[in-house]
Amino acid sequence: MIDCNIHTTVSDGRLVPAEAAARARAAGCRAVILLDHADTATLEHTVEVLRKSAEDSIYTDVDVFVGVELTFVPPALLSGAVARARELGAQLVAVHGESILAPVAQGTNLAAIESGADLLAHPGILSHEEAALAAERGVHLEISLRAGHCLANGLVASLAREHGVKLLINSGAHEAPDFLPANVRRAAALGAGLSKDEYDATQANARALIMQMLAAPRG
Ligand SMILES: [Zn+2]
Repeated sequence: MIDCNIHTTVSDGRLVPAEAAARARAAGCRAVILLDHADTATLEHTVEVLRKSAEDSIYTDVDVFVGVELTFVPPALLSGAVARARELGAQLVAVHGESILAPVAQGTNLAAIESGADLLAHPGILSHEEAALAAERGVHLEISLRAGHCLANGLVASLAREHGVKLLINSGAHEAPDFLPANVRRAAALGAGLSKDEYDATQANARALIMQMLAAPRG
């Protein structure tokens, strides 16, 4: 199992990166992507700290990769922020999507997809046009286990199926009880309307991302 959306004390999580990774391992994860929130002002610091966490994970039994979730970045700044995150060494760049309960600027989902982010996290009420463009650009969409963010999972699952978008299933964990075992993750996916084969495909998508990261030179 791989979790691509874990938050730590580097942003608004409750656990330091090493404990978050260890909790994910205890729940059954072999690899994690730490995906702390950042805006344009905090991006550099966030990536720098997570890079150190990833280096130290060599001494543990869980592989840690460096991600960042661009959060509440104005849509007009997203393209530059995605590029800057990659330059700094973020191995996965996500954008905090227009989740139903968060006052995210309208247009964030579309700007995230057009900016070439790797993942549009919890996109909320996504449109057909956005889903089609995500498929064309290879942007992953997220089925979230997190309260609030999960409210649009059914829509995201059905649009992903219709338009051929790759899905990831992520905890969005912020604290110890958020690290859920594989059986819960699978049940949540089936509950969102995915078939068993579609669930298996989400796991393959996560493995493919990790393989890409292992193959790519670090910035
Ligand atoms: Zn958060």
